[in-house]
Order: sequence, then C-alpha cells, then structure tokens
Amino acid sequence: MEAGPEEGAAKFSRILLKLSGEALMGELEYGADPDRIQAIARQVKKVADRGVEVAVVVGGGNIYRGMAGAAAGMDRATGDYMGMLATVLNALALQDALEKAGAVTRTLSAITISEVAEPYIRRRAIRHLERGRVVIFAAGTGNPFFTTDTAAALRALEIHAEAILMAKNGVEGVFTADPRKVDDAEFIPSISHREAIERQLQVMDSTALSLCMDNDLPIHVFNMDDEGNIDRIVCGERVGTVVTTGG
Ligand code: UDP
Repeated sequence: MEAGPEEGAAKFSRILLKLSGEALMGELEYGADPDRIQAIARQVKKVADRGVEVAVVVGGGNIYRGMAGAAAGMDRATGDYMGMLATVLNALALQDALEKAGAVTRTLSAITISEVAEPYIRRRAIRHLERGRVVIFAAGTGNPFFTTDTAAALRALEIHAEAILMAKNGVEGVFTADPRKVDDAEFIPSISHREAIERQLQVMDSTALSLCMDNDLPIHVFNMDDEGNIDRIVCGERVGTVVTTGG
C-alpha cells in the first residue's frame, strides 16, 4: 500500500471540490473520459473515508458553454441553460463512478429535474453531508450569466465549507501567465484574492473570486493529474497555490 498521511489525519472537516468540465476530459478533445472520472472518484472516496465531508460542483465546459452559443448568434440565456444542463450530464457520470467506488452520493440540481436529481435545498445538502454522503451540485447556480465557479463559491459559503479545492488540468496551480502557452510563466505559491483579481490571474472568474474574498474563503488551486493531491491538501500538505485573504 502506498505510504500517505495517517487515516483520520484530516485538516478539514468539510470541503467543496470544484471540477471543471476540462478536468473530466483527460486527454479527450470533447466529453468526459471514463478513466479520468474513475480516478477522481477514487480520490474523493479516499478523503470521504477519512471522515471529511465532500461536496462537489461540476462544470460543463467539456460539453457546452453558453458563450459558444451566444457567439453563434443564440440568445445568451438559452445558451447558458444548455450549459447548465451539460453540467447535469457530468454530475450523473461522476455520481455513477463514485457509487462504483463505494461512496454514497446524492446529486442536487439547481434546475428541477426530479427524475434524475434532487432539487437543491440547502438544509438537505448539509444533512446529506453530515450523514457522510458525497453531495454533487449540478446545474451551477441555476441562473444564466453565471458560471460553475460562482456556483462553487456560493455553495461553499452556503454549506459552510472550510475551503474550495479548485482542480486544474495539467497545471500545478496559479501562474503569472498560462504555462501551457508562455514559457517563462512563473508559479505563484500563495496570493490574496484581491491580488488575483487585480492581476486577472486564472484562479476562477472574478465574480466567484470576489465572493470568496468578501467572505474570507480560502481556495486551494491544484493539479488534478496527480492522484494524491486532494488527499494531500485535505491532510494539510502544501500543494499548488493557496489563495487567502492575507495572501
Ligand atoms: N452556467 C450558467 N450558470 C451557472 C453555471 C453555469 O449559465 O450558474 C452555464 C454557462 O453557459 C457555462 C456553462 O453552464 O458556460 C458551463 O459551465 P462552466 O463554463 O462554468 O463550466 P467549466 O468551465 O467549469 O467546465
């Protein structure tokens, strides 16, 4: 068995994990990679087994973004609703993988689709978490013109999560520029919300970051490609970039 932090050594008791659609894509050009989703499910199950309450907000950018529809002449709100439905597809795929990994889960949707997911009710979400169920939040905030980053900030605050874990695809954390495009982009180990907003760094969008800043909610930005990272962060190890009020 691989050596790791001791069981029960968790630093957090409740976290919110934000998985962008891209994080589910793996090496694919479009859609969700089953191997990648299973790997994520194993990581989530591992931290849940430590007694950490885990909520997940899934994105939908691997399938559809409202902006793409708007660019093609579609009404922006219609495109955004399509994007929110895309997050539901990802949520169901993740739920299936989590259950196969042995976790008990509930998917709560901000858009009512009662045949496939429970409606989002804050107190119910908290109750599920207290009972050790992994809660997946689908359909973002339920409102067009927002993103699942904002949904992550909003839900994290609503359920009193201690931190947001922001999964990135193949990038170790926050850099001065996109390291996949700019050779001399420098890694930033810690930063304040305010500075991240001012420098327009790719943490999460500015609405979401402002919400975290105003409510003093830390964000851990990390590379999803390393399977041990979620567990390391939960156990207090220094991984990726930490965004806090003090920086
Ligand atoms: N979306 C929305 N309201 C929300 C969350 C998402 O309208 O509260 C739509 C929006 O069109 C967005 C799409 O859903 O482009 C997919 O979400 P997002 O782009 O946040 O996914 P990610 O980038 O995390 O994969």
